[in-house]
Amino acid sequence: MLSRIYTAHYRYNGPDRVNITVKGKDPLWSAFAPSWDMVMGIKNGTMSEAEYIRRYDIILSKVPVVVWKALLEMDEATFVCFCNEDWFCHRNMLVNYIVNSLGGAPGRVTYGGWRV
Ligand SMILES: [Zn+2]
Repeated sequence: MLSRIYTAHYRYNGPDRVNITVKGKDPLWSAFAPSWDMVMGIKNGTMSEAEYIRRYDIILSKVPVVVWKALLEMDEATFVCFCNEDWFCHRNMLVNYIVNSLGGAPGRVTYGGWRV
C-alpha cells in the first residue's frame, strides 16, 4: 500500500521510479503526463501557469482506476520529470493531489520530498 511519495529528476533510477513525462512510454504512468500542448505552451511562454494547472486538473480527473490501483499497490513511488527541483512542474501538482486525496485516509500517504 502506497505510503510515501517523492519527486526527483529524470535521471533518478531507483526501483520505485514513476516516469510521468510526456515522453514516458509506460502505458500506466503516461496517464499522469501533461499533453505536448501544455509542455510546449509553458516552454514557449504561450500558456499561463493557471491555464496549465486547469488542464492538468482535467488530466488527473481522467486517470483510469487501473492506474491509481497500480500506484497504490506500490509501497513508495518517486515521480520523475525533466524539470529541476524548484521549477514549475506537474510533479508537484500530482503530489499535492495525492496527499490531499489520500493524506487523511487509513494507510495515509506522505510526501518525502526531493530525491537525488
Ligand atoms: Zn516537470
